[in-house]
Amino acid sequence: MKIKFLLFVFISTFLTVSCISQQTKAEQTKIDIAPENPYKCLGYNLSEKSSYLLPYPVGTDYHLVQGNCTRYSHKGTNRYAYDFGMPIGHEITAARGGLVYFVDMDTPDNTFRGKRRYRRYPNARGNAILIEHDDGTVGVYFHLKQNGALVKKGDTVVQGQPIALSGSSGFTTGPHLHFAVRRSRTDRQSLPVTFRNADPGEDFNLKSGNTYLALNSDK
Ligand SMILES: [Zn+2]
Repeated sequence: MKIKFLLFVFISTFLTVSCISQQTKAEQTKIDIAPENPYKCLGYNLSEKSSYLLPYPVGTDYHLVQGNCTRYSHKGTNRYAYDFGMPIGHEITAARGGLVYFVDMDTPDNTFRGKRRYRRYPNARGNAILIEHDDGTVGVYFHLKQNGALVKKGDTVVQGQPIALSGSSGFTTGPHLHFAVRRSRTDRQSLPVTFRNADPGEDFNLKSGNTYLALNSDK
């Protein structure tokens, strides 16, 4: 009788523990597709009037793993950033033309694996290219592949021009491109941005969890 009771306690404890660990796993996967908070996401222009194209070549499509105004990492000055899930080595294109004024490509790929390695390369943005547009705003492209720049500092690039290869450098949970537009070189506040060649089209911002194909756009 006593043995049966002990067995019952053991089994019910085991079931409870495994339920908890499954729940934790589910919560962890949620982090990659963080829900937007629409109340903090305001000020977008209609997509069809946007000056921006998706930051990848026409005919390719990528999954938006994190959109704007999330509780995970797109908050504060980063709140209007987009994370496109993108394997290492895929071509990234200029969302808008401008002057390449900053290129840093020294961080090894996969620095997110293990805190010790990350501490050796403490730059959270990893490899980066920054492009100043004609209105003074700045397009930022982060977590690029080590030595994956296709342009150099001082170059002028046109919209849609290949600028770099995607990577997973800096603070990332996996390979992706972090793209945002900042107010200026010195003001890091991100601005609400839409894309005029995304399919499916959205009137305003792109939504976490959707896959967006880059359409041809002659504007
Ligand atoms: Zn991001």
